[in-house]
Amino acid sequence: MKTQQLEQRDRMTDLSQLSTGQIAALLAALPDPAFIITRSGRYAALFGGTDARYYHDGSSLVGKSIPEVLNRDKAGWFIEQIAHALDSPGLHAVEYQLARADVKGLDSDGPEDTVWFEGRVQALGHLVQGEEAVLWVASNITASKKLEALLRMQSETDSLTGLSNRRKLMAALTEHYELYARYETPTSVLIFDIDQFKGINDEYGHLSGDKAIVTTAEVCRHELRSTDFAARLGGDEFVILMPHTRWQQAMPIAERLRLKVAESLRELGTLGRGATISGGLSELLPGDSSYEDVLKRADDALYRAKRDGRNRIVHH
Ligand code: GH3
Ligand code: MG
Repeated sequence: MKTQQLEQRDRMTDLSQLSTGQIAALLAALPDPAFIITRSGRYAALFGGTDARYYHDGSSLVGKSIPEVLNRDKAGWFIEQIAHALDSPGLHAVEYQLARADVKGLDSDGPEDTVWFEGRVQALGHLVQGEEAVLWVASNITASKKLEALLRMQSETDSLTGLSNRRKLMAALTEHYELYARYETPTSVLIFDIDQFKGINDEYGHLSGDKAIVTTAEVCRHELRSTDFAARLGGDEFVILMPHTRWQQAMPIAERLRLKVAESLRELGTLGRGATISGGLSELLPGDSSYEDVLKRADDALYRAKRDGRNRIVHH
C-alpha cells in the first residue's frame, strides 16, 4: 500500500513543482561534471561530478577562463571544440586526455596521472553572461581506455617472445608497401627460421625449444636498430622488416644476426652444440603489387638457404 502511494507521487513529480533548492540538489547529484562554458572559454557554472574517485573538485574553475587554467595548446583545442559545437547542430562528442603538464601551475614531473575523458558538448539555446554557451559533460573513461590499450597491445604481441605477432607484421608490411609505392622508400625483408628445430625439441624437450625461441627474439631486439621491426611469424619463424634499407645494406645486418643468434643459442648451454638459423632476404621492387610479393621472394630465398645446407642467408 505504502509503495503504491510512493509510485503515484513519483509519477506526479514534475520539474515545475520542484523548488529551486531541489533542482540545485538534483543537478549536484549528476554523476559526471557538467560545465557551462561560454564561447570565449569562460567557465560560467559547474554541476555534479562530486565523486572524488573520478573527478578533481572543479568548483574553483567557475569564474575563470580556459586559457587561465590550461596551457596554450590544450586551451586552444577546448575553445575550438566549443566553437564547433556552437556552429554545428546536434551533440558534439570528443575524447581527450588531461595530463599534469596541461594544467597551469602544476609541476609536470609530479606523479603521472593522465586522465582520459569523453566530452559531450551541446550548444545551449540561450545566452549566458551575454555570450553563446555550451553544456560540456565530461566523463572519466580512463579505465576503459587503459583496458582498450592493453587489449590492442595483446592482440598485436606474440605472447612467448613479446615481439610483434603475425597480425601486427602484416599491418606494418602494408604500411611500408604503401610508403614504397608512393615515395619509393626502400624496404628490405628478412625471413629466417631456426635450423633443425624439430630435432632440438625432440632431443632437449619442448621447454628448451621455447627458450631457444625466446633467446632468438632477445637477440633480434638487441642487435637491430630501433627503426627495424621484428616479428615472430609463428613456430621457429621470424621476420625482420628494415625500413630505408636496400638489400645490399641489409645483408651484413642479416649476417651479423645469423652469427649472434648462433652464438647466443650456443651460450644457452641447454641445447648441446646450440643451433643455427637460415634466412631469405629480399627488398620491395618496382613491379610488386603488394607486400606479399616481397614476402614470397624472401620465403623462396629461405627455401634455397635450407636446400643449400642451412646456416646461411640467401638473397632473392
Ligand atoms: P628446418 O631446418 O628445415 O627449418 O627444420 P625444422 O626442424 O626447424 O623444421 P620446421 O622449421 O618446419 O619446424 C619447426 C618446428 O618448430 C615444428 C614444431 O614442432 C616446432 N615449434 C613450433 N612452434 C613452437 C613453439 O612455440 N615452441 C617450441 N618449442 N617448438 C615449436
Ligand atoms: Mg625451422
